Amino acid sequence: MSTSALPETASMLTLPTDQVRSILWRFADRFDLQMLVQSARGVARGTVARLVAAGERNTHDWTPLKDEMMDAFDRAGLTAVFMEPEEGGFIVGPKNLALALSAFELAWVDGGAATASLAGFLALSPIHERGTPEQAQHYMSLAAPPQPGEDRKAWRGAFALTEPIPYVGVDTGMLGGKVRIAEWKGGEEPLLHVDKRGRFITNIATANFVTAAVSSDDPRIKGSCVIILEDGDEGTFDPGTPTRKLVHQLSSTGDPIFNLKVPASRIVGGYTVKDGVIVPNFSHGEVIEAVFRRTRVTVGLMTAAKLLSAIEPVIRYQRSRFRGAEGARPGTVRYEQGIQQREDALHRLVDVWASGEAAASLGFAAARLFDELDPLEKQKTAILRERGIAGGRSEMKALRATEESAIAFLTMKPNDSRRAEYAADPLVQYVLKDAEANVLCPATKLWNTGHGANMMREAVSLMGGYGITEDCPGFLASKWMDAQLEATYEGPEAVQRRQLTVTMTSTVFLAQFRAWITEMRHIASIRPGTGACTLASAMQMWLWTLNHLQKVTDAAGNKLYHGQRQGVTFAMADALCWLLASRCQILDVLELEARGTADASLADTLRGTVQFLGDLCHVQTAKAAGEVGRICAELVFGYKKHPSWNDAGCNQCFSVDELAEFEQTMPGITSIVLDVLKADGSHPDKAGPCASCIGESDFLQMQNKLSRCLSGSRLAKDRAAETVSAVMIPEALDYPQ
Ligand SMILES: Cc1cc2nc3c(=O)[nH]c(=O)nc-3n(C[C@H](O)[C@H](O)[C@H](O)COP(=O)(O)OP(=O)(O)OC[C@H]3O[C@@H](n4cnc5c(N)ncnc54)[C@H](O)[C@@H]3O)c2cc1C
Repeated sequence: MSTSALPETASMLTLPTDQVRSILWRFADRFDLQMLVQSARGVARGTVARLVAAGERNTHDWTPLKDEMMDAFDRAGLTAVFMEPEEGGFIVGPKNLALALSAFELAWVDGGAATASLAGFLALSPIHERGTPEQAQHYMSLAAPPQPGEDRKAWRGAFALTEPIPYVGVDTGMLGGKVRIAEWKGGEEPLLHVDKRGRFITNIATANFVTAAVSSDDPRIKGSCVIILEDGDEGTFDPGTPTRKLVHQLSSTGDPIFNLKVPASRIVGGYTVKDGVIVPNFSHGEVIEAVFRRTRVTVGLMTAAKLLSAIEPVIRYQRSRFRGAEGARPGTVRYEQGIQQREDALHRLVDVWASGEAAASLGFAAARLFDELDPLEKQKTAILRERGIAGGRSEMKALRATEESAIAFLTMKPNDSRRAEYAADPLVQYVLKDAEANVLCPATKLWNTGHGANMMREAVSLMGGYGITEDCPGFLASKWMDAQLEATYEGPEAVQRRQLTVTMTSTVFLAQFRAWITEMRHIASIRPGTGACTLASAMQMWLWTLNHLQKVTDAAGNKLYHGQRQGVTFAMADALCWLLASRCQILDVLELEARGTADASLADTLRGTVQFLGDLCHVQTAKAAGEVGRICAELVFGYKKHPSWNDAGCNQCFSVDELAEFEQTMPGITSIVLDVLKADGSHPDKAGPCASCIGESDFLQMQNKLSRCLSGSRLAKDRAAETVSAVMIPEALDYPQ
């Protein structure tokens, strides 16, 4: 192997600009989205920031100022982002990326404001995804902000799934909310009686309607459904007491009580009557699956925004830390660089920044993927309906053959004559994107919020004591705590891990994953500085481990990869997220490099920005490799019985001669293996007994390779740290503190 001199590097001079971000996150060609970003930013850094700075987070109550914030969202067009133009919206086509960008901008300042803006969307989502055309038309137009000349107030909504303990939480099947038939006169629409209590319901203080999950308490209604309740319905529509929450105080949350009579036409998606029984077209489970599938990505992006928003205030604090002291005169290192003289402070900030970039890359990739998936999903449903196939199970069965084509497509040579045909086949493309989305969505929600909350703690700690005061610029302490809510609502971490353990083992996803390893190997050869090599090796290790765990048993003979064995399956889900985030981060930087070259406005700055963001990729892949290596090693060896120095234990050890032989083919194994018998059969002093490596030599080889793939990652960190110590930042934050 040849080594070359270190290449010449360029430095990033300013924080990444909007132009850079629009290329990284692929909306440089979307003027509508660029305008939306500016609009959301105006509200976030204006109205919202002023509210937070004025202490409006210090009350659980819904206040007139918080209400005005909702009006500001309406005026800025944020309420209508997810609506179709004919419903009052302004964006044509899928809107996942649009929603993601809007939430990102709001959460840059305050997560609660972002949640308040999204909660209406969450309430309408069941109707949008599964409602009848009449329901969609009716509620969307009521919720659309009034147009000039219209004299009405927009309806606000809430989504009520969670119930008081012991009912719905993580386990969404345990519904306490009930629906019964109140009155059913022959030939007329049945009147239903809904009895439901909610817990932690967002937007409830202002809600005019609620989409509520209920199950049947009447033999004349089958199963469960989501039903629309209005504040003018007969009975009780009580928003209840506000939740005394320590987070997201700019959104309203409460425990409502509903006891209402509503027509059966409010069942989301409609119903049929079969043998005198009302059969909802969609169970509550089917509705919420369609809803959360999209909205969870946006939540993950809210935490990503927090991390990236922390960079500028931390840099400013670090640099100005000693200014004003006697010995710190302008021009001295102490004055100019402050705490940034110290490597640890810079390295930790680089870690926060790298995590924020990776989280944003993963989240925006997921949002874009849903934008691609949405029209394909519609096409798929129409094609299958034409073939007389409808409904979850029948569709899944019908798509099985397409799955094989999708896998074949992934492994086809570039010159294969069937390539164009498969690329244009909506069913093949649907199956591919669906498998990917089923993984990227929970990965974004899980990793961005969970790991993001940990990294927010790191960001807060970089501000010292200031970080945990209300005076901290950028509201970092609030953002740290808020991240914990983002990890909890819309399904906490266990829910995302549970979903991943199923979706990440789909044959289509795994075929895609193999193709990604090849892709990363190729990138590694042309852009070694991105850490793609490290990533490819870590991906290989994850795949090998998954395959291994699916086949082997623990010391007691019990299956390892099993739904009930969350210690195994959840850990593998966690490991995967690190890999996915790093991959998206690398792809974004390559996009910037490729597209930015054609952009004259970036001519002077592109090289430095690509260098810095590429170094962050390298830093992040090294971290990801460490996590994956640790998790996989623990799972591969951790379920083996710890041998003792009895005959059986000694039989599992390597002998000195045997090991010398292995060293020929596995350089480095001598330094890893501890169970070594000397020529006379004795153990060296203090050689701890541990599991034998027999059968896992492939893993050890991969571990060895992965360690060597870390080459250059700390050089990248040093380079990134140097940039962080010199990058220019504005004089002051562009929102109030
Ligand atoms: C501010 C706020 C706003 C909210 N807004 C809404 C809203 O608008 N609408 C709505 O319907 N809900 C809302 N929620 C509710 C939220 O979605 C739930 O809190 C969340 O789903 C978790 O349910 P839980 O609190 O009952 O936790 P629990 O179900 O009690 O879970 C507690 C812990 O146990 C773990 N756990 C539970 N089950 C399992 C399992 N099977 N395997 C492994 N671990 C498990 C969980 O991961 C978690 O760590 C909101 C919550 C808050 C705090």
